[in-house]
Amino acid sequence: RIVSKHGGDATRLLQILIDVQDETRWLSPAVLTLIAAELSIPRSRVEGVAGFYHFLHKRPVGRFHLLFADNITERMQGSAELMASLCSKLWVEPGRVSEDGLVSVETTSCIGMGDQGPALLVNGVPLTRLSHQRVNQIAELIRREAPLSSWSPEFFRVDDNIHRTDALLKLEMAPGAALRAAVALGRDGWMEQMQLSNLRGRGGAGFTTAVKWMACRDAAAPEKVVVCNADEGEPGTFKDRVLLTRMADVVFEGMTLAAWAVGARQGFIYLRGEYRYLLEPLREALDLRRAENLLGRGIQGVAGFDFDIEIHLGAGAYVCGEETALLESLEGKRGTPRIRPPFPVTHGYLGRPTVVNNVETLAKTCLIALAGGEAFAATGTAQSTGTKLLSISGDCAHPGIYEYPFGVPIERVLEDCGASDIQAVQVGGAAGITLASYEFHRRIAFEDVPTAGAFMVFDSSRDLFEVARNFVDFFAHESCGFCTPCRVGTALLKKAMKKLADGRGAKTDLADIEWIDRLLKNASHCGLGSAAPNPVVDTLLKFRPAYERRLQSLDFEPAFDLDAALAAARRASGRDDAAAHISSEGSDQKA
Ligand code: SF4
Repeated sequence: RIVSKHGGDATRLLQILIDVQDETRWLSPAVLTLIAAELSIPRSRVEGVAGFYHFLHKRPVGRFHLLFADNITERMQGSAELMASLCSKLWVEPGRVSEDGLVSVETTSCIGMGDQGPALLVNGVPLTRLSHQRVNQIAELIRREAPLSSWSPEFFRVDDNIHRTDALLKLEMAPGAALRAAVALGRDGWMEQMQLSNLRGRGGAGFTTAVKWMACRDAAAPEKVVVCNADEGEPGTFKDRVLLTRMADVVFEGMTLAAWAVGARQGFIYLRGEYRYLLEPLREALDLRRAENLLGRGIQGVAGFDFDIEIHLGAGAYVCGEETALLESLEGKRGTPRIRPPFPVTHGYLGRPTVVNNVETLAKTCLIALAGGEAFAATGTAQSTGTKLLSISGDCAHPGIYEYPFGVPIERVLEDCGASDIQAVQVGGAAGITLASYEFHRRIAFEDVPTAGAFMVFDSSRDLFEVARNFVDFFAHESCGFCTPCRVGTALLKKAMKKLADGRGAKTDLADIEWIDRLLKNASHCGLGSAAPNPVVDTLLKFRPAYERRLQSLDFEPAFDLDAALAAARRASGRDDAAAHISSEGSDQKA
C-alpha cells in the first residue's frame, strides 16, 4: 500500500522506508524483502539505504524512542547527566531497548535546538528545555504509556528566539510580490539583478548564486530542477529552522524565483529529519501557494511558467547536507557524495541540470527581486553582500537568531548576545574555525571568517579539549564510510583524542594528530573528511595547554594494553595463572 502511494517509484525509496517505519516502528528483514520485491529492485539496495540513515531502524526500538542531542553546547548544559538520570528512572541502558519494549534511549547529533537545549527527540518530535524536573515528568509519562498527544504542549514548545533583525527578518512581503517583480523583469532581466546583487550561497561555501543559476540555465538538457537544501546539520546551527517556521512562504517564493531564472519545472525541498515536525505546516503553505497560482501550471498567468515543489524528508545523515549526497538521497539512495565534475548544475537530480541552494540563500533572493540587485549589494562588504543570519548558542545570556550585515566583528556579536569572559568562539560549526580571544576583532564575511551560521560561545570555564573531542566524535559518527582516508582517519582521530582524555597520551600522539590532519585534508573524497580535523588542529594551535596537561609523559606511551586484550582468551581457555598474563617482568618468557 505504501509503495503504491509512492507510485512504485524507486527514487522514493527513502520516503517509502520512512513511511513504513512509521507504521512498523522498525524495518525488519521481511519488510525490506517485501519492499524490494514491490519496487523490483535488488534487496541489497534496500538494505543499503535502510542501513545508511541513523533514523531508520534495522532492529526494534522502544515504543517511546528517545534521542538526546549530544551537541557540545547541550553537553555543557548537562544533557549527559539528564540522559543518565532518565535511563536509571526507566531501568534502561543507553542504546538498548527495555525488556518490555517500552522505551529505548540513545544519543544523536545536534537536532537544531541549540538555543533552547538540552533537547531530545521523542518518536521524532523535539522536546526542549530539559531539566531534572522535566525528566522526572517524562519518566512518569512513559511509565504510564501516556500518548505524546497527552503530554504538556509546553514540553514541545519551540521558540524562534530572534534577537536581532535586519533586511530579511524585517521583510513583510505579500505572497507573490517578489515573483511578480521578477516576472515583470523577464527571465534575463531577473538574472541581471541577481548578478548585480553578487549574492553568495549562505550554506557555507559562498559560491556566487547567479553563476550557479546561469550554468544551470545554459545546460543543454531541457528539464531543470531546483532543490532547496534544508538539511542544516552543522552542529550549532538552527537559523533555517526559524526561516522555515516563520518565513516558509518567502523560501518557497525564492525557489520559484530560481525556477523562473533557470526554467525549472520541478522543485524539491530536502527537509532534515530532525525538522519533521515542520512537515505539515510546510505542506499547508505549499497548498496555499498552489491555490493562489503561485505554484503549478501557468504561474501568474505566464504561459509555460510551470513549477511545483515536493518535500522530501531526510533521516539523520549529516553528510546529506553536501549537495551531491543530498541528490543521491533524493534519488532514493545512500547519501554518498558523488565525484565532481560533473557538477549538479549540469548533471544533478536524475542527471538533470539542478540548482541546489540553501534555505537562507533562496529567501534572500526575494529581497533582490523586490529592491533590485544594487540595493542588495549596498549592504555588507564588497565580497560579501547583504546580511547573514547567525545561530548563537553556548555561554551567552541570549542565545538565538541574530541577523547582521556581513562584516560585523565577532566582538560586536559577543556583546549583543550578552557573552562575557569568553575564551573561544566556534564559528561555522564543527567544520568551521575556532577563534581565540585575540581574534575577536575579525569579521563575519567570506573573505575573513566565513560561516553557514553556527556561532558557539565558550567562556573561560570550558575545556577546549573536550569541545574539540565532541566534534571529532561527531565526524567519526557521521563519516559515510565511502572512502578509506575519512572512514579510517576520523576513527584514528577519535582514538587519539580518547587516549589523550584517558591520560595515556604522549607527545607522539600530538604529532600523530597532525599527520592524520594531512591525511584527511589531502585524501578525503568530500568536505566532511577534509574538515574533520579542523577543530583539533585549531585548538591544538591556540589552546595547546588543554592538550599538554593531559599528557602523562612527553615520551612514548603504549596505546594498547596487550594483557587486557588477552582477557577473552584467558576466559575461553579457563586459565588465569601467572603464565597466562603478560607482565613487564619476563613477558618474553610468558608470551
Ligand atoms: Fe564519506 Fe567521509 Fe569520504 Fe565524504 S570524506 S565520502 S563523508 S567517507
